[in-house]
Amino acid sequence: MPDAFADHLTDTTPPDTTPADTTPATDRVLAAYTTLRLGGPAGTLTTAADTAEAVEAVRRATVEGRPVLVLAGGSNVVVGDAGFAGEVILLRNRGVEVISEGAGEVVVRVASGEPWDDLVAYAVSSGWSGVECLSGIPGSAGATPIQNVGAYGSEVAHTIAAVHAYDRIEDRQLGMAPEQCGFGYRSSVFKHNDRYLVTAVDFRLTRQDLSSPIRYAELARQLGVEAGDRVPLEQARQTVLKLRAGKGMVLDPEDRDTWSVGSFFTNPVVPAGFFAELTAERGEMPHWPGADGTVKIPAAWLIEHAGFPKGFAGVGVSISTKHTLALTNRGAGDTAALLDLARTIRDGVRDRFGVELHPEPVLVNCQI
Ligand SMILES: Cc1cc2nc3c(=O)[nH]c(=O)nc-3n(C[C@H](O)[C@H](O)[C@H](O)COP(=O)(O)OP(=O)(O)OC[C@H]3O[C@@H](n4cnc5c(N)ncnc54)[C@H](O)[C@@H]3O)c2cc1C
Repeated sequence: MPDAFADHLTDTTPPDTTPADTTPATDRVLAAYTTLRLGGPAGTLTTAADTAEAVEAVRRATVEGRPVLVLAGGSNVVVGDAGFAGEVILLRNRGVEVISEGAGEVVVRVASGEPWDDLVAYAVSSGWSGVECLSGIPGSAGATPIQNVGAYGSEVAHTIAAVHAYDRIEDRQLGMAPEQCGFGYRSSVFKHNDRYLVTAVDFRLTRQDLSSPIRYAELARQLGVEAGDRVPLEQARQTVLKLRAGKGMVLDPEDRDTWSVGSFFTNPVVPAGFFAELTAERGEMPHWPGADGTVKIPAAWLIEHAGFPKGFAGVGVSISTKHTLALTNRGAGDTAALLDLARTIRDGVRDRFGVELHPEPVLVNCQI
């Protein structure tokens, strides 16, 4: 293993911030590449049109000791106003390939830069079941394992057969089985970890015209079915898209409620004993019992009941008018203002309920 790779990943010396990129700083402003439309300039910016270019750009920056930020759809990052003084690699590698087919299933290999919802639409129209409830989620296919993307009772860990990655420490490409990915609730070994560049993901999908069992009560209600029932794939997709659009959770450049990272906070998971004390003191609240004696509480409920309604505004930023969990840029905001709003909400929930909220997106060169 070349030491330069390992050394760089553990090195805490400030990076050389001299941009090697001669592109004017205004053209490297990362706000142009994030759904929040926030974030300062990159030190250098490279667009990787294919996987080989992406791997080479990451390898080169690693050898040269420059920090790397991989950016695909920019829909789950909050970039500081000072930007990122390293190499930003925009992933634009595309491709969808069926790598194995059986009577009942298909395994499809998807390049990491492929837009996620294009893949979902393709799967639905091909009669491949498994990802239909994840319709309308912005961003790339390669980012879905990073936080084990999930919605409406489904998550990508249910269908991922393998993750292909370039390992910066070992300077080699490898395939990782799901058990090696450490998938959890909005987490995996890839999150908050710049060791791996995900180059492609294999999804195992079922050949059938019906959805996987509908697990989420709100979706089942909207479909007019019982939880556990299946519905035609296209019906599942369209219903999810409609529900999401009503909450500002489908990107629409005209709608500032979608200038967000989706949910800003994860739903807190607390020990059952703490939850019992909390409800004894504060009254009943919605919750989902988890495994191993934990309870998950909807962050949106906590935020609303701590006094932060939809539309609650900061400076040029606000809670979405459609969904309490989405913090949005109204057009004139900056990252500092967004994070001030996030801090106000986090502290308010802590004061009212003693529950700590944690950000779901990756914070780049900034913190709350
Ligand atoms: C309106 C809206 C709704 C959303 N709804 C949901 C939802 O329902 N469920 C959900 O889970 N998320 C949701 N999100 C969050 C986001 O869409 C997902 O997390 C998505 O997978 C991020 O993809 P991306 O390509 O935009 O990643 P980026 O924002 O570009 O990157 C996110 C992080 O992943 C890293 N990364 C990205 N690609 C790679 C790669 N190939 N290799 C290594 N690291 C990589 C980046 O370095 C960064 O740390 C929503 C966001 C928005 C704006």
